Amino acid sequence: MLSPDLARIRSFKVVPSLPEPLKPLLDIANNMWWSWHPEAVNLFMRLDRELWQQTNHNPVKMLGMLPQKTLETMAKDEGFLSSLEKVLENFENHMKRTPWLDRTDHKPGDFKVAYFCSEFGLTECFQIYSGGLGILAGDHLKSASELGMPLVAVGLLYRHGYFQQYLNADGWQQEYLPDLDFANLPVTRVRNEDKQQLKVKVEMPGRDVTCGIWKVQVGRIPLYLLDTNMPENDVADRAITGQLYGGDMEMRIKQEIVLGIGGVRMLNALGIKPDVCHMNEGHSAFLALERIRDLIEEKNITFDEACSLASAQNVFTTHTPVPAGIDRFPPDMIKRYFKDYIGNVKLDMEGLLALGRENVFNKNEFFSMAVLAIRTSDWANGVSKLHGVVSRDMWHNIWPHVPRHEVPITHVTNGVHARTWLSGDLSNLLDRYLGSRWQNDSADHSVWQAVEEMPDEEIWDVHESRRQRMILWARRQLRKQMKQRGASEEHIRDVCDGLSAKNLTIGFARRFATYKRGNLILRDAERLLKLLRSTDKPVQFLIAGKSHPADGGGKDLIRQIVQFARQSNVAHRIVFIENYDMHVARYLVQGCDVWMNNPRRGMEASGTSGMKAALNGVLNCSIMDGWWDEAYESDLGWAIGRGEEYANPEVADDIESKSLYDLLEKEIVPLFYDRDDHGVPRGWVKKMKRCISQLAPMFNSNRQVQEYAEKLYLPALRRTRVLEKDNLKEAISYTHQNYRLRDNWDKLYVESVDAATESPLGVHDSLGVSSIVYLGDLKPEEVRVQVYSGQVGNDGELLTGNAFDMDVAEDLGDGKYRFIGSINAGTSGRYGFAIRIVPGGLNFEGMVIPGLILWEQPATKPQAAEPAPEQTEAVEQN
Ligand SMILES: *Cc1c(COP(=O)(O)O)cnc(C)c1O
Repeated sequence: MLSPDLARIRSFKVVPSLPEPLKPLLDIANNMWWSWHPEAVNLFMRLDRELWQQTNHNPVKMLGMLPQKTLETMAKDEGFLSSLEKVLENFENHMKRTPWLDRTDHKPGDFKVAYFCSEFGLTECFQIYSGGLGILAGDHLKSASELGMPLVAVGLLYRHGYFQQYLNADGWQQEYLPDLDFANLPVTRVRNEDKQQLKVKVEMPGRDVTCGIWKVQVGRIPLYLLDTNMPENDVADRAITGQLYGGDMEMRIKQEIVLGIGGVRMLNALGIKPDVCHMNEGHSAFLALERIRDLIEEKNITFDEACSLASAQNVFTTHTPVPAGIDRFPPDMIKRYFKDYIGNVKLDMEGLLALGRENVFNKNEFFSMAVLAIRTSDWANGVSKLHGVVSRDMWHNIWPHVPRHEVPITHVTNGVHARTWLSGDLSNLLDRYLGSRWQNDSADHSVWQAVEEMPDEEIWDVHESRRQRMILWARRQLRKQMKQRGASEEHIRDVCDGLSAKNLTIGFARRFATYKRGNLILRDAERLLKLLRSTDKPVQFLIAGKSHPADGGGKDLIRQIVQFARQSNVAHRIVFIENYDMHVARYLVQGCDVWMNNPRRGMEASGTSGMKAALNGVLNCSIMDGWWDEAYESDLGWAIGRGEEYANPEVADDIESKSLYDLLEKEIVPLFYDRDDHGVPRGWVKKMKRCISQLAPMFNSNRQVQEYAEKLYLPALRRTRVLEKDNLKEAISYTHQNYRLRDNWDKLYVESVDAATESPLGVHDSLGVSSIVYLGDLKPEEVRVQVYSGQVGNDGELLTGNAFDMDVAEDLGDGKYRFIGSINAGTSGRYGFAIRIVPGGLNFEGMVIPGLILWEQPATKPQAAEPAPEQTEAVEQN
């Protein structure tokens, strides 16, 4: 090796030189579009199957390695050239397809969404992802391309990606870091007019860090990546983008500064002006500060004024249901990294720290990236219906006195990208029975109805061949793994042969974190062994998943499984496949019969592997958590438990593992092996069809992207346009109105309320309510006085609640006004209501502002005291 310290090394790039007729292959290879089009993958495979595998399915690398002879032969192969032409035509059609928004009633005009994420899972040869979050982001981009969404993505280019896994002889996880070869990946340097790589700088304590800009094209969507491995930086800084989720807290904050602040600067350098910024998880939340800095610099306004506008543009998606999953930095660390920066955003240090604290007065509270994201985004969501509820509970402290269900965090349930995860065989079958619409309008329920009409035999045939292919692949993997571990040839043969292509095969692949309970199935060894050792109705498990290198508990789960299999002589029935990645995932979600998921309830935000399985007709058997809580129906899969939550984890493990064994013994195994004369399990196939037709359109990333657009991007765009017009006139007036409300809020109170509550009301009658409120210096149009009503529980609490605006009826002088309104009871029962005041005016509509809500106080308390009314504390929906 010759180190660049010893000699000046001049580098240049060598690209594959292809004969003219094959040149289009380069265009295809350099756009990730190929990765979700089996016909494009087939082209590369036809060139050289061996090389395709050897390069870990990397067309750029493979094209550079093809022998001259192959190139010459293929350049004359009519069949190949005509396939190439067809693929090229599909590619071009994809790139110019009419955008979805142009086919709807939304007419947003020109706009741009910038989507920030710390990882992107696009395909296996480009490992800048770790798991669920990255793959979700990758699927988001693919669907955005299909839908023609005006979106650009921002991420980091990790030199080593995420760690690779193998197991030692004891079943203990070992890790190593690959070195990604960017020159042979579909990623290119972005250059300026002088052919130099475009760069931006971010400040770190005492120095600037230079970040180079790279680009990956994902269909129509550009993904820009930042890279600190630049000659300008010292060794330590060059390693900032070295490893995904590696290193300590210090490394994490550096990466997040590069992603958030560097990301915004990168877009500026590229001349891209996003209207909406989407923080996919809190890692990128520093972007809000940089957007504010830009606005302040450009318009010479205050922090609060800039923040009003920036927040209107920001969308924050939270992915974690547990506080432990959130990045938090000690105040001292923030002080160190931001002491110079705060001047640019016209904040003092306490002001900055408060942005990341749930309780802004607690000086010891750590700085949370999720809280920063929430406080600087007017739009926030969780990633499943249940996770929406969990998130509102988790963050309701930020909006004191607001009923839980009104905490402004909505949900957009995750989806998966159909063409990425659906097997080629099933795709072909769908093409035949559903036509091509399922490919382009994959979120349309009506398209998928035809699955129900497909002949059982054909679906079952396709599924059996997928299982068989998976088993053949699993044997190859297993042989490789066992050889590496030094197993004897005899033992290898026993295990590989023992794995059967006919057995009921259960897949369990996910991150090995303790809450996912990878060892739950081992809880009653006897019952498990009976299932595994059955001679007429055998069950086998394929298991995969990485554990974070620092998570000893997670690694131990893997070890327990491997050792159990070995010690009980069922190594051919419980097989652990190493190095879970998109490639492994694809085989498993396409070839297993059942997809098992048994996390502790409430810990799984959504989960997406089960959706990939469902798309392929692989039936889910899962705890009622995450997406399954909203997807489950008895005719398309199985639920472990009914959504109970247990205080004692041991009890939960006992009950839920029993429930799992019961399901397997009494329902799953018998149904799978119940065959008719043609060997088809009719009942099983019926469930498969139901599963595909119901779940494929729903848990689909095209639906997901459309929903993000309708629920979040477009409302953000509308609000932004209002606030920014006339040189930010409304943003500034909104900010100052906020001050005015805050200055006066403590003085407001509800003086009296009048309603005829003594005599019962008919179901469809309405109850008139009148209330006198004191507004001090505020005018009635500056507030909304509302009746908040719903059904009352046994302790006098409101179980549900809806708010209706009251109208001002009379100015009583001295700051007092009489408001009137009415309540309609839809059903009979016991109802109640409370009167409250929230901010009024157009720009406040739909906004829930922390601290600006006032309820009529309980009779026993003096008026205008600390507002904490019992009847609303207990209000909880769901
Ligand atoms: C889909 C996928 C995940 C996420 O699956 P979960 O169900 O959320 O655990 C993780 N890793 C890989 C490789 C995947 O393909």
